[in-house]
Amino acid sequence: MKSANAKILQDQLIRLTRDLIVIESTDSKPEERARCFQVVRNHLDEVPGVVLKRHEYSGYESLLALPEGTDHPEILLCAHLDVVEHPQSESYRSEIKDGRIIGAGAGDMKGQMAILLELFRKRHSENPGISLGLAITSDEEQGGEAGVCCLLKEAGLRCGVAIIPDGGSLNRITVEEKGILHLQIRARGHSSHAARPWLAENPLERLLVRIPPVLHWFKEQRGSQEGSLESDPHWYPTCSVTMMETPNDSVNCIPETAMATLDIRFPPPWTCDTLIEKLGKLLGEEVEIEKIIGAEPSHLAPDESFVKLTTEVTGEPVDLIRSSGASDGRFFAEQGIPVMLSRPEVGNLHGEDEWIDVDSMLVYYEICDRYIGKKIGDRR
Ligand SMILES: [Zn+2]
Repeated sequence: MKSANAKILQDQLIRLTRDLIVIESTDSKPEERARCFQVVRNHLDEVPGVVLKRHEYSGYESLLALPEGTDHPEILLCAHLDVVEHPQSESYRSEIKDGRIIGAGAGDMKGQMAILLELFRKRHSENPGISLGLAITSDEEQGGEAGVCCLLKEAGLRCGVAIIPDGGSLNRITVEEKGILHLQIRARGHSSHAARPWLAENPLERLLVRIPPVLHWFKEQRGSQEGSLESDPHWYPTCSVTMMETPNDSVNCIPETAMATLDIRFPPPWTCDTLIEKLGKLLGEEVEIEKIIGAEPSHLAPDESFVKLTTEVTGEPVDLIRSSGASDGRFFAEQGIPVMLSRPEVGNLHGEDEWIDVDSMLVYYEICDRYIGKKIGDRR
């Protein structure tokens, strides 16, 4: 049986999550992202002692809610309101079924954003001036460079610790994330008639010859890095070829250039530089490499008392896990700021039937609430 208070909180979280899901805040719809920010602002408007500040970088809005007179809150709650694109608007409806809220964006991360908004409001109403901040960004699905990255590097945002419910699960707290390298590789030649292939080397064929040794090398890395954390059997560098193209549009023409993009994920001790050097050798001098995005692997260093509280509240042991994906946590890690990356139970992420489990939302809320209470509850 839930207490009356828990029931009220549950209803609030469900309502707010569903109100947020119905807004199609995708990359192609800046007006919907703006509308979503408006809903968030409305929710925070009357919180006593809090200043809302709007930031914008490269067309992406961010919102910072900070206690008056503080630029560096002890605890920062962090969420992104952008969601992935689906062709049908109907995907952005939600339903409640089997104790879950099901709908596009429910678990990544409108449900979690609802939790953070409620927590922020409650804590500031009870204890005005508490050193608790909130950051909402809108480009995480695009890499976070104009969101969290700019808030830290351009707006000078800092905090004691960051709570980001966008990875792991309730009892699985992420401690390490792989680095990312997005590369474009390019071969050049001369366009010529395909009937006389002896006249020009074909750059497309050169890529087709040069890429397999790269893929082979990455396959050899499987199982090459043993570690003490057993939860990720894929803790080695991987490479996916994600695009291949030429400007060519005729069947009987040898193209002048050919490009491919590679999405590479890697754990330490590899770095962006050492991997690019390795790829240079594998691809040979005639293939150019251009870096689109590069981020080193991160160590998230969650606060031990958060880990302990998670065990206490859930009654289950905590796994400290490694993740092959990357989150906004890496930007905080770069600044030496500890990150708490766990979340309620979610599933089918980026699918139309994405879901978040309602009971686990309440549990996650309680973990964070107790953590805030323990760390800064009695301080301003
Ligand atoms: Zn996310």
